[in-house]
Amino acid sequence: MSTTQQVSESAHQHWMELEHKYYQGTFKRYPLVFVRGEGTRVWDTDGKDYLDLVAGIAVNVLGHCHPAVVSAIQEQATRLVHVSNLYYNTLQIELAEQLGLLSNGMRSFFSNSGAEANEGAIKLARKFGRTKKNGAFEIISMERSFHGRTLATTAATGQAHYQATWAPLPDGFKQVPYNDLDALKAAVSDKTAGILLEAVQGEGGIWPADKAFMEGVRQLCDEQNMVMICDEVQAGMGRTGKFFAWENYPVTPDIVTMAKGLAGGVPIGGMLAGKRADLFEPGDHGTTFGGNPIACASAVATIRTINEQNLVEHARKMGEYWHGKVQELCAKYDFLDSPRGIGLMRAVNVKRDLAAKIVERAMHNGLLLNNLGTSTLRIVPPLVVSQSDLDEAADKLDRSLTEVAREN
Ligand code: PLP
Repeated sequence: MSTTQQVSESAHQHWMELEHKYYQGTFKRYPLVFVRGEGTRVWDTDGKDYLDLVAGIAVNVLGHCHPAVVSAIQEQATRLVHVSNLYYNTLQIELAEQLGLLSNGMRSFFSNSGAEANEGAIKLARKFGRTKKNGAFEIISMERSFHGRTLATTAATGQAHYQATWAPLPDGFKQVPYNDLDALKAAVSDKTAGILLEAVQGEGGIWPADKAFMEGVRQLCDEQNMVMICDEVQAGMGRTGKFFAWENYPVTPDIVTMAKGLAGGVPIGGMLAGKRADLFEPGDHGTTFGGNPIACASAVATIRTINEQNLVEHARKMGEYWHGKVQELCAKYDFLDSPRGIGLMRAVNVKRDLAAKIVERAMHNGLLLNNLGTSTLRIVPPLVVSQSDLDEAADKLDRSLTEVAREN
């Protein structure tokens, strides 16, 4: 029997065993094998459906298989899939234009992932340091940050457990506590080329930056001749109620990185540079696949749909609605507290290390949530999530919390 002909009763078991045999053991996965998605729902091999508030970790901003994304990919696939960056391709230019119009004229470079986007930003900051600040090369990033899994982005990531196994990491990175302007000022030297930060920390627990901190970073970068780099890989694309998360603050960064939701589910990375940092010249940086026509067609359709359907504002409203729901749950369950976040980037603290148990119960009840460590529950749903989806999610979460409370 071929692998696809296995009977559905044991289908997920079959795929899990096959994965174990042929896929490297990199991921600790839940025992769910998904085969189909539509809007805010996904279906597993047994035909069970789940309300998806994880959205491929903040990727499926238009939900699963949005018609605009599907038809953009289908149409582009019949026309041109790949030509390399030896030549121009119209979709790449259209996407760069869209992002330029949204960012007051920044120019783009496209890659394939968030880590790669940040690698490009780090190289660009080093070029800034080399050409504008006597060879400065150091990047200061934040504790609790996450910037990717390549060696340089691991060095920039302010969480020791991601770094421990890979020493020696590339030189020239240090971290300071998030939202601590004094610590940042003390860390800056004539070797510092740039400050890298998330306007809302994602993997670190959904922590928005303070306004004074963002303003302080901007001022420090101007005074000390450094570039301000905002990692918008998770928080960008309208998720926080603004197209870019930094637009929630009265500052504009010099370099912006994007990925995740940019192409509505197709792999892509974007690195945008404002005038002050737009220093790459031919040969400085490159990629074979980055900015390929399929990814860019999907991204163009995603951004157009976000704009046409006013999904940035919708994300803000739905985020506030969800916040109200979670506040009610915090009043009901003594092990939940500190609901927080902005737009559709939300988290709540869970006491007694119950976060993973809640995620598992919710999964059993047909709801996908995500835990960050043992004590934080996160949701980063599609921007198209509706009020009735959130009502259903709150009911399912409520039921899951009652079950966990009873069992623990
Ligand atoms: N930056 C941030 C803020 C992220 O949240 C992530 C991934 O979670 C990355 C960078 C890395 O992106 P990727 O996994 O696409 O390399």
